Amino acid sequence: MNRFFYLAAVTLLLATCARGPKKSFLRTAEIQALPQSYGDNFQCRIASSSIPDEAHLDHTQIKYLRVNFHIVGKSDGTGNFDEKTGRLFIAQVMRAANQKLANNKKMNLPVGNDTPVLPLRYRYLLSPRPEVPGDDGIYFHRDDDLYWMVSKGKDQNNYNRDVFEKYGIRKDTVLNVFVLAHPVDSLKSRTYKADQRGIAFGNWVKVKNWHNGIRDTIWQEDGTFKMNWTYWNAVKLLNHEIGHCLGLQHTWTGRDGCPDTPKHTNCWNKSKRAPCDTEWSNNVMDYNAHASAWSPCQIGKIHANFSNPNWKWRSLLEPTWCTLKPEQTITIRDTVVWRGPRDLEGHLVIAPGGYLRLGCRVSLPAGAKISIEPGGRLVLDGAELENACGEQWEGIEVGQQGEQEGTLECWPGSIIRDARQSVQLVSHSQEDS
Ligand SMILES: [Zn+2]
Repeated sequence: MNRFFYLAAVTLLLATCARGPKKSFLRTAEIQALPQSYGDNFQCRIASSSIPDEAHLDHTQIKYLRVNFHIVGKSDGTGNFDEKTGRLFIAQVMRAANQKLANNKKMNLPVGNDTPVLPLRYRYLLSPRPEVPGDDGIYFHRDDDLYWMVSKGKDQNNYNRDVFEKYGIRKDTVLNVFVLAHPVDSLKSRTYKADQRGIAFGNWVKVKNWHNGIRDTIWQEDGTFKMNWTYWNAVKLLNHEIGHCLGLQHTWTGRDGCPDTPKHTNCWNKSKRAPCDTEWSNNVMDYNAHASAWSPCQIGKIHANFSNPNWKWRSLLEPTWCTLKPEQTITIRDTVVWRGPRDLEGHLVIAPGGYLRLGCRVSLPAGAKISIEPGGRLVLDGAELENACGEQWEGIEVGQQGEQEGTLECWPGSIIRDARQSVQLVSHSQEDS
């Protein structure tokens, strides 16, 4: 009876490799599965399985969501940013939006909570067309029919998709953001409310009224701008709408599927009167003045989508997991369980004394390998090891030194595919030690 994964073949090969570092290969068919699982039920797709591990943040790869921007104005050039101001504004918005993503804030609700503040581990990447020289991912259109967005009343067109159909660029691989406006004529009416709003469509969003966010534009003598931007409102709107695209719902309803975002009254800001004296939210998925907090469950939901090969919009991510980056190698030195899927960007090393248990999909880039060092232990408990880019990763290398060797346990349901060599044994000679 095999206590751990142990192959007769492995033992034989090790016996013949007593001296000098040697490598031997085993085919997948030779991997012997253990008869039964731990019985631990890995739920690979749920949010809680993809919440970043505070003790090992590098185990959640930073994902990059590709975005581009379309600024649509009237044919006479009014109604929206001109090209120069628009480019500067978008640059500011991109910088500030990524700054928000990099500086998650503590949740204000529920009152008195001790919800952890976790890093989001994703960013936006302004993504031009690589084949078009000079393209910067910011596009300007003039279109009297499509430059405006109205969210209610007889002219309501916020659900209309025409602007995306007509002007969308790289629709399958870049999230297109359409920066629209209020109808210029409507703005002349004193009763018209020129609000900033947005709407999310999965792989694209509409936002409106960003250009009115600039209070002054002061030209410097050297030709540069000095502006009093109010781009933070634009940033809040962008993060909120993209939050919808990434799978998040409004939290105030209490029905967003996250236990750490309570139902509340959706106060815009803190005020002196109850309930807004205490019950104000700062969560990005509510309507409030802060929009600066993402809860662990919300982050988990986003990463559960990011790492799900069947998620409809995974192609909007920069495929950072397809190129081997040795500096992104993960070394396991303590006891770790990956409850959700991973797209690794470097090698995976189980160091002596390290223990890693996998029950979900793990992708390794072409050229990457898993090394189980002597005294390290890797448990495949229904895991799927693969290359998510249609290429081949190297395989599993098991190290041996003297009496000690790396241990691979292979439980039912585990799959190793796309590996050039599924298991490679490395025997270290005494002189190596
Ligand atoms: Zn919303």
